[in-house]
Formats: sequence, C-alpha cells, structure tokens
Amino acid sequence: MDELRVIHADMDAFFAAVEMRENPDMKGKAVIIGGKSLSNRGVVSTASYKAREYGIHSAMPIAQAKKLCPDGIYLPARHTLYKQVSKEVFFILNKYTPLIEKISIDEAFLDIKGCQRLYGSPLKIAKTIKKDVKDTTDLTISIGLSVNKFLAKLASDFEKPDGLTVIEAAEIKKIMAGLDIKKIWGIGDSFAKKLNELGIKKVKDIWPYSLEELKNRFGKAGVKIFYLSRGIDNREVESQSEIKSISHEETFAENIEDSEQLLAYLLKMSEKISFRLHSNSLSGNTVFIKVRYADFKTLNRQKSFKFSLDSTKNIYKIAQELIDKDDLFDKPVRLLGIGVSNLHDSQQKQLNLFEKENDNLDDTIDDIKRKFGFDKISRARKLYLKNDE
Ligand SMILES: [Mg+2]
Repeated sequence: MDELRVIHADMDAFFAAVEMRENPDMKGKAVIIGGKSLSNRGVVSTASYKAREYGIHSAMPIAQAKKLCPDGIYLPARHTLYKQVSKEVFFILNKYTPLIEKISIDEAFLDIKGCQRLYGSPLKIAKTIKKDVKDTTDLTISIGLSVNKFLAKLASDFEKPDGLTVIEAAEIKKIMAGLDIKKIWGIGDSFAKKLNELGIKKVKDIWPYSLEELKNRFGKAGVKIFYLSRGIDNREVESQSEIKSISHEETFAENIEDSEQLLAYLLKMSEKISFRLHSNSLSGNTVFIKVRYADFKTLNRQKSFKFSLDSTKNIYKIAQELIDKDDLFDKPVRLLGIGVSNLHDSQQKQLNLFEKENDNLDDTIDDIKRKFGFDKISRARKLYLKNDE
C-alpha cells in the first residue's frame, strides 16, 4: 500500500496551450478558449495561466471574462485539433504502462507498478514522461505521484503548471492536515457548508470524528470522507479496453541481412513483451509481427489462437513460424516489430494448450530482471547479437 505506484497526469491549460503552440505570438498572453462558436453567452472552456491572473476560470460566462480582461485573446474551441494532440499524448503515456485510466481528453491515471525495471524508479518514470511529452508535443504536463489515485490527483495540482509532486506514504498526514476540506474529492460547496457548520474547515478537523459518527451524519459520503481525509483510497486504476496490445519494434542503425541475427533480435523482443505481459498480469490470443525492408516496403503477419499465451518461448516460436512461412528474412531488414494483442487478465487465463510445455524459465528470468535490471540476463540466443545495446 505504501508503494509509489499511481501517477495522475494532467496537461496544463490544455486547449489554450495547444492554441499557443500553434500561434507562438500568443505565448504568455491571456488566451481564453470558449465553445465551438465563440459567443458572449457561452462559457470559458480553458483559460491560459495569464488569463487566470485576471480571475478568469473555466465555466465562467464569456461575457463576464470579457469584463475582467477586455484585451484577452478569445478563441473558439477547435476540438478536432485538441483530439489529435490528445492522441499523441496518450500514445506517449501508453509507452510506459498499458494500465491507463483515461479521465478526460487531457487527464489520466497510470498504474506504474509493473514498469519499474524497464523505466526506473517511479520518480524517474514521472520525469521521463514529462520530458517525453514536452519533447514530442512541445506542451507541458503536470504529474502527481503517490500511493493511490486520490493522493496522486491531489499532488498533480500542487505545482501546476509543469509540476511534478510526489506524496510519499510517510508525508500523508502532514500534507493532508492543513488542506481545505474542499480539496477532498466529492466535497463541493453544499457539503462543505454542512461541514463548516460543525466547525470542520481543514482536513484535520475531520479526524476526531469516528467512522460511525460520520456515517450516521452523512451516510456514504461520511464514510468516504473518513477514509479520504486520511489519504486512504483503495480504488484501482481501471484501464479501459484501451490496452489493445503490447508490442515492441526496433529500427536498426544499419539494415540487417543475417537471418540468425534477426532471429536473435526477435527473441530479445519476445522477452521484453513477455516481461511486460507478466508484469501487468496480461496474456493474449494473437501474436503479430512487422517487417520493414530497406525499400520501406512493410509486411505484417499475425496468428490467433483459442488459448492465451504470455511466455517468451511461445511468443518467439509463433513469431518465428510467421517469419518462416513466407520467408520474410530473405532480404535486408530495416525494422522489426513484434507484439501480442487480444489481451486479457491472465488470472482468467483459459486452459492453455501450451501449458504442459511451458517452461518455468520465464518466471526465473522475470524475477532476476526485477531484481537486477533488464539487461542482466537473457537467453543464449542473445549471444548472437553483434551490436546489442
Ligand atoms: Mg488539464
């Protein structure tokens, strides 16, 4: 429970930031995005940080915003553009973990428990994501990192824009104590008013009340604030069916002609995929490969099974069969990709035809990788690799 495993990632003033990126002259200015058609009767959907200094916030009527900041730049929303940028951002987030719960166009929870051996400590993952988003989209994202969803979301808001805040288990009490009760998820104006009447203004004012008392007074909401005020939140990051596949591809510095060397890469990639499947308790019914040649011609092949698979051995074996069937390694290869799709929770794994021949080697290798890092151990074929990184 004390593990830093949940990230809340939230783009900063997203719509306004995208408009400023498209038109750098607007940078640093008060930019206010309205609805699709910008009318005085509409409301603000996003205000840039400069505009916020004038007291403008989302959901405020445009007419009111114009009174506060007559010289602001008022723009209609361009949702197609924002969706496109959002896709890019989610593509980046997906590189780090398939366990993503999308909350809105620019906000998501990530469960990073399985990715630490591949990408480093939780803090390092958070920093890498921020850099990746900035480098790829030229936009900033704020990140909260903590032990659960509630605290991660709380944290992402602390240092916006371009923030990175970690709430460790040991700091929860100290951080929660002085917060306004409205910072607790689900406490809006009217609930806050009722609590204020009891003299409850700060989060720590909730602590003296027992679970029983809060339940009797406020029902379910009382139970919720009892736990949240203590930073306790057991909700899991619920990744939607968005995890469609886990895949890996490599573009080689120089085209590779030697099929033994290509198979060695294929095995290395199968290992990475198997490791990520295991780390996220997933298995899949389809193995697919992608081969791109020197002339950029690209071939895709895939094979599906009734049973699910997740071991290096099986992924590699099927990929190799797909290669052999059409003799795909008969000319120099520029890019090689492999993946597993049709994923599901491996706890619900159906009886696996491969199970009998499943080796325990994967478990052992996974364990060692977890303890010592990804490149410390691999199967023998890796020795074929001439220019392994
Ligand atoms: Mg945002």
